Amino acid sequence: MNQLGIFMNFWEKNWIADHAKYIRKAAKLGYDILEFQAQALLEMSDERILELKKIADAEGIRLTYSLGLDPAYDVSSLDETQRQGGVKYLQNIIKKMELAGGDLLSGVSYAGWGTPGVVMNDKTPYWNQSVKSMKEIIKTAEACGVTYCVEAVNRFETCIINTAAEALAYIEEIDSPNIGVLLDTYHMNIEENSIGDAIRLVGADRMKNFHTGENNRTAPGRGHLNWDEIFGALAEIGYKGPIVSEPFVMMGGEVGRDIHVFRDLVENPTEERIDAEAAYLIDFEKKMLAKYGMR
Ligand code: MN
Repeated sequence: MNQLGIFMNFWEKNWIADHAKYIRKAAKLGYDILEFQAQALLEMSDERILELKKIADAEGIRLTYSLGLDPAYDVSSLDETQRQGGVKYLQNIIKKMELAGGDLLSGVSYAGWGTPGVVMNDKTPYWNQSVKSMKEIIKTAEACGVTYCVEAVNRFETCIINTAAEALAYIEEIDSPNIGVLLDTYHMNIEENSIGDAIRLVGADRMKNFHTGENNRTAPGRGHLNWDEIFGALAEIGYKGPIVSEPFVMMGGEVGRDIHVFRDLVENPTEERIDAEAAYLIDFEKKMLAKYGMR
């Protein structure tokens, strides 16, 4: 049965917040997974990481991690010093994930988050640098039991991997059991000709995580994405992995700045209102899973 997850910054406008609070909240709302920004692990003591692991274990919550890689650590950089710094940074994050008992890393973690802002007639040099970096990073992931989920994201957030086909080509070059693909409905809505075909192209074996969010990053069911097409395709390929929802609905803070949220997408987004929206979200996804015989 697919585990259902929620990203912590549904509630929080800054990337680092009280993780323990949200582990308990996710459990209370019936979620199986809480996902948050992996960079936080580098800013916590080992004692704190182990304390959070203990809380998560007690609450029955699996912790997964995401990363919008700081461009200072761009592993696709043509500058070798910067690239090597990025490799070390990501290796450190993976080691902290092992300590935290985490085994899935999502997001734009194969290049700096964003686009280089240069005239680009050929992205091969950046792609090749990223592949070169990943071949080193993946050895650490293999040693630490971490699976790298290469997330295809829209053109405004990376120039490297925008589609399922590009993600597949990338993981084929890396060739490791610890690397796979992550598709996200919000990004697919922008880049793919057909969301169902993209899901079928990747297939269940190579899909290691799946993100849900509407066309405008509200909770699934609130916008105009075709959730029958999405859950139908997931059922068709026999996907049994995690489904983590990643709505961003509040203006302001670091999250509003980085995700480009310039209006509230939930009216009067108090904590109680977001809690109610999170309850609606998991109910919607459970109903879709049931409709397609996935639970
Ligand atoms: Mn995502």
